[in-house]
Amino acid sequence: MTNNTVPDRLDERVRVVVLGGGYAGALAANRLQQNSSIDISVINPRPEFVERVRLHELVAGSGEATVDLAGLLGARVRLIVDTAETVDAPRQVVELQSGASVPYDYLIYAVGSTGTVPTSVPGAVEFSYPIGELEQAERLSAALDETPRDAQVCIVGGGLTGIEAAAELAEQRPDSKVVLICGGLLGPTLGTRARASVRRQLERLHVDIHDDATVAEVMADTVRLADGREVPAALTVWTAGFGVPHLAASSGLRTDSLGRLLTDEMLVSLDDPRIVAAGDAAAPSGQPLRMSCQAAMPLAARAAGTVLDLVSGNKPTALAQAFVGTNISVGRRYGTIQLSTKDDAPRRFYIGGKLAAIIKEQVCQTVVKQIAKEGRAPGSYKWPGAQHGSPRRTPLNQ
Ligand SMILES: Cc1cc2nc3c(=O)[nH]c(=O)nc-3n(C[C@H](O)[C@H](O)[C@H](O)COP(=O)(O)OP(=O)(O)OC[C@H]3O[C@@H](n4cnc5c(N)ncnc54)[C@H](O)[C@@H]3O)c2cc1C
Repeated sequence: MTNNTVPDRLDERVRVVVLGGGYAGALAANRLQQNSSIDISVINPRPEFVERVRLHELVAGSGEATVDLAGLLGARVRLIVDTAETVDAPRQVVELQSGASVPYDYLIYAVGSTGTVPTSVPGAVEFSYPIGELEQAERLSAALDETPRDAQVCIVGGGLTGIEAAAELAEQRPDSKVVLICGGLLGPTLGTRARASVRRQLERLHVDIHDDATVAEVMADTVRLADGREVPAALTVWTAGFGVPHLAASSGLRTDSLGRLLTDEMLVSLDDPRIVAAGDAAAPSGQPLRMSCQAAMPLAARAAGTVLDLVSGNKPTALAQAFVGTNISVGRRYGTIQLSTKDDAPRRFYIGGKLAAIIKEQVCQTVVKQIAKEGRAPGSYKWPGAQHGSPRRTPLNQ
């Protein structure tokens, strides 16, 4: 194989391996079924699909966050339950934790993002609980079960995950006081009016919001703030910041500073024309989209489209994606929807209250249904931006 269009083995079937069975990987794998000459495999560490958007529900005991992954994948998609340890790009092989090797003609890199705790804050790694991955959320849930129901809980991070986690815990543990340490501003990506809506809803749940407080140290039962104040915390939840798996970087592929795979606007790796990225782990033109299902699904559709084009000898087209807003659940009964411009800037308008909670729940359900539908009817998924135009992006000068 010397170019990026036609596979060497024209007489043989084309093997596409998808790394990660999250929102992006599952959708991309299902979409690849449009070409019946492709053998599709998804490699995922567990047999479940994780609805990460519901991990705060799992933690608080108000909902589940897993769905059988094989049931979401189309009939022609093979699921391999394992973890990729290395992508050996020159040999076109993925080495797995089990010791097995999986060869590919094309690879879709969709390993998502991770919950992280900074090593720079003393005690944070030892004493706080991240929430961004299934196993982290399960560990946190078990720790909460051991914590008295009236004990004070501290949530670090005033972003969307922190807001949702604080609200869910406050609602499900009404005897406990929940303190939210925002590190600057509550909901920094929200507009003024949507932020005020979230604040009202959190206050209704008696969440104690500290906007400009920053955590300097986490101890077993206390959080010390940068201004010297100490906040009692029987349990501390760390929600500030996402990381990404280091698989691309450790496999010698070029990434951005966080570790997302660097690609062109067709989502093809800058290092290897057989590797295409999607979801939170992709950095198209070094300008990654907001880590979200809202971006992961269109990125997945584009990644699958790129592979389908390359397999058929067609020129892939560039990513077209547009944001519509941010849906925030504030407990089970309330929510806020911040409407946004195509490039994710907050508009003046928002929807608040019970209607927003209903819409958010519908969106969460619809996303999973869309993946399953793509399994039954490959090519059916449509997304904002594809039809109505997406924001202008600056392609990377390679
Ligand atoms: C609490 C919480 C609430 C959220 N709420 C929202 C929301 O309301 N709206 C929204 O749009 N987004 C929300 N998000 C963000 C959203 O969940 C992510 O952006 C989305 O999951 C990204 O999809 P993905 O497919 O790229 O990655 P993921 O869903 O993370 O899937 C990646 C998959 O790859 C697997 N994987 C990782 N490493 C390997 C490996 N080496 N080998 C094989 N497989 C591997 C992972 O285990 C995982 O199954 C939320 C996130 C959290 C944590």
